This record gives sequence, structure tokens and C-alpha cells, in this order.
Amino acid sequence: MIVILKQTAQQEQIDRLKHFLTNLGLRIDESKGDHSTILGIVGDTTRVDADLVASLDAVEAVQRVQEPYKKANRKFHPENTVVDCGGVPVGGGMFQIIAGPCSVETEEQIVTVARAVKEAGATLLRGGAFKPRTSPYAFQGLHGDGLRLLKLAKQETGLPIVTEIMDTSHLDLFDDVDVIQVGARNMQNFELLKVLGRTNKPILLKRGLANTVQEWLMSAEYIMAGGNDQVILCERGIRTYETATRNTLDLSSVPVLKEKTHLPIIIDPSHATGVARLVKPMAMAATASGADGLMIEVHNDPRHALCDGAQSLTPDEFADVVRRVKAVRAVVEA
Ligand code: PEP
Ligand code: MN
Repeated sequence: MIVILKQTAQQEQIDRLKHFLTNLGLRIDESKGDHSTILGIVGDTTRVDADLVASLDAVEAVQRVQEPYKKANRKFHPENTVVDCGGVPVGGGMFQIIAGPCSVETEEQIVTVARAVKEAGATLLRGGAFKPRTSPYAFQGLHGDGLRLLKLAKQETGLPIVTEIMDTSHLDLFDDVDVIQVGARNMQNFELLKVLGRTNKPILLKRGLANTVQEWLMSAEYIMAGGNDQVILCERGIRTYETATRNTLDLSSVPVLKEKTHLPIIIDPSHATGVARLVKPMAMAATASGADGLMIEVHNDPRHALCDGAQSLTPDEFADVVRRVKAVRAVVEA
């Protein structure tokens, strides 16, 4: 349920209304916009007499929200959310590019790639230290040492870091990480989401391998219900019957999400296509779709990458993509 307040509402009337609602065991999520203030009411609102609330002095209108996600719902929070990622704002009309290797391999690799992507225009550095691999025999990441090397690359370049968490027991290792990524395979790891909801870190929540937009928003809701509203959604393609690409990039999720939620959305054309030469056209298409940014895999030596080499761009290819994306962006903004 949302309660839209009158612009003329007095603070005393608003306080009385809030008191009335919290006494019913409900939680209030207040969103102050330029033109109106909205109280998002979370909890079992079936006990609330909407007509009674609508008749109160401070209230302009009351609407029942049908969607099961509340805090992530644009009806609760009409203004776009801007997530501060170590000083880099994501969302709200800004456009950010997260780039870096699939996994951190060596100091030389991560520092070389970090310098190159920064030079080309990336604003955040990615790199996996804990890797969710299909095979237990594949490279699993450098774990704590990978996080140490990411920090080093951050010191060298000033780029905030984005890296994936797979288990709540590793959380202490993520103290210096700017954005914690939840990978596609963990999108519905609800215990992980609940723990991340109690942190104050921005969370990049990837879309699950075969999840609907609504399920994805419910996962965002898990994080937000715990008190952490700094969630960024990341579309990375979904599994369909098509096999020409690693996944099918659902770009229609961007305008759909823009209607349904105030959270920023980033597109990852690397995991979506699985093929380096498809990254550029899909990065341009993603930019035109109105996304808030991109996440792109870049490796200094893709052919010898320990993970996802086939979809990784060289630094030169990445620089070319950034140039094309900026050209598209200029048109989209015009
Ligand atoms: C990744 O970003 O390296 C990754 C594993 O992505 P996804 O969870 O989208 O497969
Ligand atoms: Mn990868």
C-alpha cells in the first residue's frame, strides 16, 4: 500500500498518521520527491482500512500495490535510485562502465588490465576472486589473495572494485570491496541475500540463469527488506532454446524494469553473448535501450585467460567499444 501525502500536510498530521500505521505493526518507507511525499507501507496491510486512511487530513490518496515487491517498486519510490559505488554514482541518468577480467589471475594481469580499462574510460574495475564454475576441476579463483590483488589495482588506478561473493562466511574478506556482486547462480540464494541486506555495501545483483523479472525483483526485495537499499540490477542474459549465443540477452528487461523499479540497471553483454565479437554490437544496443551502464570482461591476453577468454575483449577492443558506446550515449541523451 502507498499513501501519497498532500503537499500542504502539516508535520504533526504526518506524525499522527505514521503513529497510527506503525501501531498496526506496519513499517513505513518514506520517499520524498520534488513534487510529493510517498509513504510506502510494508507488512500485512489487509488490516488497514484504506478509506479511513484516505479520509485523513494529511492524505492525498491511498493505493494498494499489487506487486509482491514493495521497496524495489517504483510506486513506492518514484525517483530513480542512485547508488554510490565508492564515489562513483550508478543510476539517475549517469552512465558507468564496469570492466576487467573474469577472474583475477596475477598481480601483473589485474594491474595491467585495470590501467588499460581506466585509460579507455571504465569507471569501475571488476574481477572475480571467488568463481562459480560449472566444473569443480576448473580454476576456482584466488580467493583472499585475489581480493588483495584487486585492492592493489584499486590503489594503482583509483577505480572502485566490484567482485563476487559466493558464501556468507567470506563476508569479512569483503570489507574493502566497493560493490559486492551476487552472481546469476546465487540470485535466489536467499540466506546470502538476507546477510547482504544487513550490510551497508552496494550490491550488484545479477539476473538468474532462468529467472523472470519478477523473481529478480523479489531477490532485490530480500536485500532491501534487510535495510540495504543500495541495489543495482545486472542483466546478463537468460537461458532460452537458442544456442548460437551463450545466453539470450533480454534487452527488453531494461524498459520493463524502468517502469517497475527505481533501481539502476547495468547490462553485461559479455556473459550474455559469450563471444567477444558480439560484445560491441550488444553493448551499443544496451546503451540505446536506456541502461544505466555496462559490465564488460577485458583481459590482457584473452587466449590464455583462466576463465571466459572467448568472451573477453583485449584492452584495444574495449577502448573501441567505449568510443562507440559514447557515440550512442550522446544520441540517447539528445
Ligand atoms: C561473472 O560476472 O564473472 C559471472 C560469473 O557472471 P554470471 O554470474 O552472470 O554468470
Ligand atoms: Mn566471467
